[in-house]
Amino acid sequence: MAAARTVLLTGSNRGIGLELVKQLLGSPRPPAWIFATCRDPEGPRAQELRDLANKHPNLVLVKLDVSNPSAITEAAKIVEVKLNGLGLNLLINNAGIYTPTASLDTVDAEDMVRTYKTNAVGPMLMAQAFLPLLKKAAQESKAKGLSCSKAAIINISTAMGSIKRTTDSFSPPVISYRCSKAALNMLTMCQALTYGEAGILCVALHPGWVKTDMGTQEADLTVDTSVRGLLSVLPILSEKHSGTLLNWEGKAIPW
Ligand code: NDP
Repeated sequence: MAAARTVLLTGSNRGIGLELVKQLLGSPRPPAWIFATCRDPEGPRAQELRDLANKHPNLVLVKLDVSNPSAITEAAKIVEVKLNGLGLNLLINNAGIYTPTASLDTVDAEDMVRTYKTNAVGPMLMAQAFLPLLKKAAQESKAKGLSCSKAAIINISTAMGSIKRTTDSFSPPVISYRCSKAALNMLTMCQALTYGEAGILCVALHPGWVKTDMGTQEADLTVDTSVRGLLSVLPILSEKHSGTLLNWEGKAIPW
C-alpha cells in the first residue's frame, strides 16, 4: 500500500512523537519530507531529534507550540514554503499533556483550560491552518476514496477519552485529560464529516498504554511496539474508518 510522501507531526521531540519520526525515517520508503515540530527545537529536550535531522535531509525541524495560535499559523507558512507547491499528505496531532493528580476533588479551572487548549484546541487549529496543504494533497492525488497516502488528519487520542470505556473503568480519574480527549474525539468526528468532502480522512488513534514520560515505566507497551502498531494501522485506513477511534492494533474503540 502507498505511504504518505509528506508528513507533519506535533510533539516530536520525545515519547511517541520521537519514535514516530524514527520509524518513519527507517521505513522501506521514507516520506520525501517529515516536518517534525516541537516547542523548542534548539533546547536540550530536542537533542535526539536534532541528531536525526543532521543525518536525514528529509527531516525538517519546525518550532511549534500547539497551545499558541500564532505559532501554528507561523509554522504553516514555513511548511508551505518548504513544500514548494506540494501538498501535505498526513498531519499527526500527537502533542498532549496529562495531569495525573486531577481528580474531581483536586482539578481546577486552570488545569482544565490548559489541558483543553493543548489536547483539543491545538489539534483543531492545526487542522485549520494546514487545511489548504491537506486539500492540495487530496486534489493532486489520483487515488480513489480516502487514505493516509492521499490526505489525512490523525489525532492521537486515548481510550480514556471514550465515554463508554470510562463507564467500564474510571481509574485513574484524570478529569482534565479525559474531558480534553473526549473533546478531541468529538472534534475528530466533526472533522471527518466536514473534511471528508475535500478528500481528507480523519481518524483518532489510541496508542495503548505506553512507556513514555506520560505513560510511565509501569505501562504495558514499549514505545517501539506501540508505534510499530500505529504505523501498520495507517496504510489500512480508508473512508470506512473516518470518524472512528481505533487502537494501535486497528481495533475499534466505542466513543
Ligand atoms: P510524552 O509526555 O512522553 O510527550 C508529550 C509530547 O508532547 C512532548 O514532545 C511534549 O513536548 C509535547 N507537547 C506537550 N505540550 C505541547 C505543546 N503545547 N506544544 C507542542 N508540543 C507539546 O507523551 P507521549 O509521547 O506518551 O504521548 C503522546 C500522545 O499520545 C499524547 O497525545 C498522549 O495523550 C497520547 N497517549 C499516550 C499514552 C501513553 O500511555 N503514553 C496513552 C494514550 C494516549 P515538550 O518536550 O516540549 O514538553
